[in-house]
Amino acid sequence: MVTRITWPRNRLLAALPAHQLTHLAREFEHVECHRGEMLLDADGALDDIFFFDSAVAVVLAVYPDGEAVTVAAMGHDGSSAAEAVLEGQTSSVRFLVYIPGTAAKLPRAAFRHAMRTMPAFRRVMYAHVRAYLEQMTITVACRSAHSLKRRLARWLLTLRDANENDALPLSHTELASLLGVQRPSLTKALLELEHEGCVAGGLRKLTLVNRRVLAKFSCECYHLLRKRTASPRW
Ligand SMILES: [Zn+2]
Repeated sequence: MVTRITWPRNRLLAALPAHQLTHLAREFEHVECHRGEMLLDADGALDDIFFFDSAVAVVLAVYPDGEAVTVAAMGHDGSSAAEAVLEGQTSSVRFLVYIPGTAAKLPRAAFRHAMRTMPAFRRVMYAHVRAYLEQMTITVACRSAHSLKRRLARWLLTLRDANENDALPLSHTELASLLGVQRPSLTKALLELEHEGCVAGGLRKLTLVNRRVLAKFSCECYHLLRKRTASPRW
C-alpha cells in the first residue's frame, strides 16, 4: 500500500465524474511499481488492470527466442486496459516497469462491472484504446522510418511526458534496449544530443535541460502523437 496524496494523477481516472470516481475508488489497490517489474506478460491472464500514476511501463511484443520489441509506453495518461476493454482474457503483450513509481490496480471483475454500468468510464476507456492503437502504429512505423538520433529525441520526450519529470533515471543500456539498438550506437546518438545542449547525462540520471530544442531534433512521430492524443475527446 502506498500513500495517496493527490490521487488520481492518472488522466483517465481524473476524467471521470467525481461521484463515479468516488464509487470506483474503493475497488482500487494502490501499488508501488519497481524498476524492471513485469506487471503483465504476453499470454498472461488479464486479472488486474493497472492505471499508472507516477510509474511508466513499456509495452513489449515478445518473441519465442526472448527478443522483445517496444511498441508503446504508458504513464499517467495510460493503463494496461486496452485488451480488457475488448474483452480479451489474456494479454498479447508484456508490460514492464521502466520508470519506477506508483499505479492503481483494479481487479478485472470490478473493471468489467464499471464498463457495463458507468457510461463515462466506458467512453474514457474507448478513447484510451484509440490512443493506445495510435501510439502502437506510429511506434512500429517510426522504428523503420526515422534515424536513431531523431527516434531517441522522440522517446526522451515521450518518457518525460509520461510522468511529467525532466529527470529520467535511465541507463544507456536501458535506452538501447528500448530503441532496439546496440549500446555504442545509442551512446553516440545521446552524446550528439548532449552536445546540442538539450540533454545532460549522468549515471542512470538523464536530464532534459532544453525540451524546446530537443523537440526540434525529434522525428515527427512525437508531434503527431501529441497533436492527436494530448487533448482527448472523452
Ligand atoms: Zn518517428
